Amino acid sequence: MRERLLADGHRECDDADVAVVNTCCVTHEALAKSRKEAARAARTHARVYVTGCGANLAGDGFAGLPANVVVVAKRSEETPAFVAGDVGAIGCVQADARLDRVRAFVKVQDGCSFSCNFCVIPLVRGASRSRSADAVLQEIARRVGQGHREVVLTGINLGCYRDRAAGYDLPRLVREAGATPGLERLRLSSIEINHVNDALISALRETPAVSPHLHVPLQSGDDGVLRAMGRRYTVATYLRRLAPLRDEFNLTSDVIVGFPTEDDRAFANTLRTVQEAGLTKIHAFPYSPRPGTVTAQHDPIPPAVKKERSASLRAASHDACLVRWRTKIGSDDIVLVDRPGRGYGADYSPWLVPEAAPVGELVRVRGAAVSEEGILAEH
Ligand code: SF4
Repeated sequence: MRERLLADGHRECDDADVAVVNTCCVTHEALAKSRKEAARAARTHARVYVTGCGANLAGDGFAGLPANVVVVAKRSEETPAFVAGDVGAIGCVQADARLDRVRAFVKVQDGCSFSCNFCVIPLVRGASRSRSADAVLQEIARRVGQGHREVVLTGINLGCYRDRAAGYDLPRLVREAGATPGLERLRLSSIEINHVNDALISALRETPAVSPHLHVPLQSGDDGVLRAMGRRYTVATYLRRLAPLRDEFNLTSDVIVGFPTEDDRAFANTLRTVQEAGLTKIHAFPYSPRPGTVTAQHDPIPPAVKKERSASLRAASHDACLVRWRTKIGSDDIVLVDRPGRGYGADYSPWLVPEAAPVGELVRVRGAAVSEEGILAEH
């Protein structure tokens, strides 16, 4: 949407006439924040477009907002053209819109045909569908040409990527994307454990541009809870499939805490699994029932318990990060500087680099120490 509006001659600024609030509805809190953001934008902008998953959620989470708010309940593919058409093109087309040049997110797939019992995504994003490999590879080449050093392939359920007509699945796409001349780094946004198979692992290992980082949602480390969630794998499968990667890849994950059937024992199993799998950064989401899902009516775990479990998980995650970061002390790494003084190493571990390090560049660093926020580079 940003690119489309910029290409139409609009300009990004603080006191803009138009705001786009792209919403999330994966938890109740995400939707509440989205609504608050839309209400706030409506006070300071002439027109506000509410787009994304929240706008597509049944139940009208944005009802009652002022008349200058337009809720765009459309598929992601159709949204940029709708918003741009409604805003209206002005000025001349800019050949070179201002973009963040460090990391490009290239969407290759959308939607999900799985049906985890807690998840609203299939309802708001629809069934799985993929972009053509040709379009994806062209976009990657264009992004690299614009100066992006890193490309992240994104999707709701990336492992479902298929371009049947051209004979592509995700492993083949990774290999060919990674061969784009000038591309320094390639990552996957996230991948379900069921798709972490030999073909994908070989493609990741054999593609030099691929960063040794994988984000693999766990959701729970207890088989009973996984079954109740409808997640289609067991803890043993999760551990077995990640075992060959754990020393080589930085493994990160998502976990839901306070799912209706999660008792203390099940949560303890989750903590143990996180450790056994060698996971580092965990995004802990307190369970929140979503409308239209199988578990919509169930939320028996008290908020205080969810809070406590989230805190334990965050603490375990932080400890695991520190352990990984400490292994970098005294060794070299290449950091992609994405903000002044900060960046990410080859395996997506966070680094603190000298303020003078140029944003958008890859710099060679040596680990000197570890802080609460990442690895400190030698000056
Ligand atoms: S695989 Fe992911 S997106 Fe699909 S239903 Fe399950 S949690 Fe939701």
